Amino acid sequence: MAETARKEETVVAEYGERKIVIIPRYCKGCDICVKVCPAAVLDMKEFKVCVVDIEACTECMLCEVSCPDFAIEVHPSGKKGKVK
Ligand code: SF4
Ligand code: SF4
Repeated sequence: MAETARKEETVVAEYGERKIVIIPRYCKGCDICVKVCPAAVLDMKEFKVCVVDIEACTECMLCEVSCPDFAIEVHPSGKKGKVK
């Protein structure tokens, strides 16, 4: 049977239970999330956001709430900083 809703392709970075999900098709490369992130977790690669240091993520959610295009989601582990 054909799927009615196509699942968007995602790029997922994981560290313990922490997950950062990017939907590249939605990302317009505006750089806002990279600039608001206080821990230098994100960077730009070929005009799309990418995760470069998920371990440093403080799970502040600033990137997710600042993205105008709903292109990045943070699934917090509930444990800030390094996951043991
Ligand atoms: S704020 Fe959103 S659209 Fe802009 S670079 Fe980040 S993920 Fe992409
Ligand atoms: S949740 Fe906060 S620390 Fe983690 S990537 Fe987003 S802005 Fe950076």
